[in-house]
Amino acid sequence: MIPSAFDYYNPASLDEALQMLAEDGENSKVMAGGHSLIPAMRLRLAQPEKIIDIQGLRPHLSYIKEEDGLIKIGAMTTHYQVESSELLKASAPLLPEAAAVIGDVQVRNWGTVGGSLVHADPSSDLPSVMLALDAEMVLTSVKGERVEPALSFFSGILQTTIEPDELLTEIRFKAPAGKKTSYKKLPNKASHYSVVGCAAVVGVADGKITDAALAFSGLAEVPLRFDELENNLVGKSTDAASIEEACKGFASGVDALEDLHGSQDYRRAMAEVFAKRAILAAVSR
Ligand SMILES: Cc1cc2nc3c(=O)[nH]c(=O)nc-3n(C[C@H](O)[C@H](O)[C@H](O)COP(=O)(O)OP(=O)(O)OC[C@H]3O[C@@H](n4cnc5c(N)ncnc54)[C@H](O)[C@@H]3O)c2cc1C
Repeated sequence: MIPSAFDYYNPASLDEALQMLAEDGENSKVMAGGHSLIPAMRLRLAQPEKIIDIQGLRPHLSYIKEEDGLIKIGAMTTHYQVESSELLKASAPLLPEAAAVIGDVQVRNWGTVGGSLVHADPSSDLPSVMLALDAEMVLTSVKGERVEPALSFFSGILQTTIEPDELLTEIRFKAPAGKKTSYKKLPNKASHYSVVGCAAVVGVADGKITDAALAFSGLAEVPLRFDELENNLVGKSTDAASIEEACKGFASGVDALEDLHGSQDYRRAMAEVFAKRAILAAVSR
């Protein structure tokens, strides 16, 4: 289908983009790579009156750096940049590992970290990774900056707490120093979106798990963490049998997604399988 008519804007600076959002954010849509927005417009699921194309902000919002004890990623950074970042490979390898299994080469070269997080597709990979890393979203408007934890940012299917006048400008988190990490997913065979995926950040000492942060993609409307599962893992040995025991049935009460790619029961079962795989892969590193 052809999208409904819209006016196109191409701001050259962050200030200009923020001013446009301040003036008419309600009727506007920011476009990063357009990988999700354009299909949504063609299906007329989104019918913005104005498109604010932020490609011109790439030089300012495309970076990966370490500063003030935090890893900072600009919202326009592509999945490929994350996948190939030497800084991230050394200090937060969970992110390059997850970025490397997003879509295909074209998707990774054009899709952006910010676009993926604001689009908040329940089957996308980076929201759960950011949740497991306790990342924060830096949301900027003409009024200034506000910081929202990943834990409260994702509010529903394709919904976040971003306000119409805000731009996601940066994602930041403390590098999980000394932790063992892994991302494992069951990919949709066509798109590679997660039917279910698990991001694991695990502390290990003397062969036992000392702490765990596990977050799941594709399982429910928003990426989820499970306190009971994380607590259950603490003190367990890192062998397969102990991990399997700790993961048993953790997802049985979840209001899981159901679609042609998997029933609720299938997704709950796969969450258990991929939790085990992600933890085992992490602790073996
Ligand atoms: C064929 C295909 C396969 C894919 N497979 C996967 C996969 O396996 N795993 C996965 O995780 N993802 C997958 N994706 C999604 C892809 O990773 C993109 O990151 C995602 O589509 C977002 O695209 P984009 O960055 O171009 O954002 P856009 O499409 O431009 O924007 C998406 C949404 O975010 C908003 N937005 C974008 N940037 C900002 C910002 N900085 N501030 C405020 N709002 C903003 C837009 O207004 C829009 O609502 C796939 C996409 C395609 C097309």
